Amino acid sequence: MSHFDIAITGAGAAGMMAAISAARTGASVCVIEKMPKPGRKIIISGKGRCNFTNLKQWNDFSAHIHPKAGFCKPAFYGFTPEDVISFFEENGMKTVTERGDRVFPASYKSTDVVDTLMKTAKREGAVIMTGSGVTGMTKDGENFRISLASGRTISAEKLLIATGGLSYPGTGSAGDGYVWARNFGHTISDCFPSLTALVPEGYKTAIRNTRGHIDRTAPLSELGRTLMGNRLKNISASLAVDGNTVEEEFGDIDFTDGGIEGPVGFRLSRRCVQAIAHGSKAVLTIDLKPAVREEELTDRIASLWDEISSDARSRGKSFRDKFRILLGKLMPYSLTAGFMHFHPEAGIHCLAGLLKNWKFRIAGYVGYERCVVTAGGVKTDEVCPKTMESRLVPGLYFAGEVLDVDCDTGGYNMQWAFCSGWLAGKSAAASLLG
Ligand SMILES: Cc1cc2nc3c(=O)[nH]c(=O)nc-3n(C[C@H](O)[C@H](O)[C@H](O)COP(=O)(O)OP(=O)(O)OC[C@H]3O[C@@H](n4cnc5c(N)ncnc54)[C@H](O)[C@@H]3O)c2cc1C
Repeated sequence: MSHFDIAITGAGAAGMMAAISAARTGASVCVIEKMPKPGRKIIISGKGRCNFTNLKQWNDFSAHIHPKAGFCKPAFYGFTPEDVISFFEENGMKTVTERGDRVFPASYKSTDVVDTLMKTAKREGAVIMTGSGVTGMTKDGENFRISLASGRTISAEKLLIATGGLSYPGTGSAGDGYVWARNFGHTISDCFPSLTALVPEGYKTAIRNTRGHIDRTAPLSELGRTLMGNRLKNISASLAVDGNTVEEEFGDIDFTDGGIEGPVGFRLSRRCVQAIAHGSKAVLTIDLKPAVREEELTDRIASLWDEISSDARSRGKSFRDKFRILLGKLMPYSLTAGFMHFHPEAGIHCLAGLLKNWKFRIAGYVGYERCVVTAGGVKTDEVCPKTMESRLVPGLYFAGEVLDVDCDTGGYNMQWAFCSGWLAGKSAAASLLG
């Protein structure tokens, strides 16, 4: 049986960064990864470009953390977004900052992030074992015993669980960490998919809807095919749960093969999924013209209609054809068929109201198979925020998505994985010396 000072399960963003911060103190560290290669989720993040942090200061940054940002504050200040950027730059990866303070590798290749982490972890002396997952773990007196699928057993004085959540199980994150945490006496807050596509009623055919979960691969209906591919910029959207508006957002949404996504769709998805999973009714209302008051819009529509009606090219055209031309002046033409499907009775006089209140009843949501992050996880009240050590089992640490912390899109999730990993690794190493 091999013995290490610190064993880390999971070579994702959190586990790799923990290995680096622990190994650089001189501690013997091993990272156990079940997949053949580390960092599979980093590779697919940001559509392969990897938006690995966000340069916002804590006051703004913390508004993007759920459900309890306060828990993350010591980790954030211990390894800030600036520290994360310096870490990558000092280890040979150039970075670039884009709109919204989002930071990427200058190459826009997520593989550079993984390569830099791997190279640095190895240089600091961490042992990375891939291709054989952890199947069980117990605490035996002072030490932890960790069993691997290969039949090997490892013992370690400190143990860090950084196995991620449940999203994109093909990357290796299958929720194993929750099972071990529970065995050690920890509470797991209810998990649910977040940053995921919301599926409007009628968008998919032949759906199997299990408590709101509609598999990503469910085929699109004719309506879904009509809407798919449209991106709406600078719209505002509100979410109503059982008739009460609970959230309003401004920005862009995308209609995809999954449903409604894009920054605004994703931001609303957290509340929406929770509501649907609890049996509530959710309605998403889009205002296509948030900058214009309804009265002004009514006047504009009337003058556009006059123009179209008096145009010689309109002669002989049906009302429906002319109405579609009008719509094409008010929204992307590719969206007009979808809009008319939703509003078959729409006329000139009520159009302004409909443009400002396009309602989508939400039938369900895409699940862990394609959501960006898992909400819920190891309850943070049972973990010390200054060290990431379990309050229940001395020597046991947690970092990253396995904890009950999830963030919006924009580099926040990865920053959380990096800073909590850094703190957990550093604290575990420091407690060896103490
Ligand atoms: C499609 C997609 C795009 C994303 N884009 C971004 C983005 O651009 N910016 C951003 O900030 N965030 C993004 N995220 C979220 C972000 O990638 C994650 O929140 C973050 O990587 C989580 O890191 P982690 O180390 O906690 O977990 P993970 O990255 O999930 O790592 C956990 C590791 O543990 C391993 N493991 C699990 N069980 C075992 C076991 N039994 N034995 C051994 N190993 C095990 C897994 O194989 C995995 O490698 C994206 C997520 C997805 C799915």
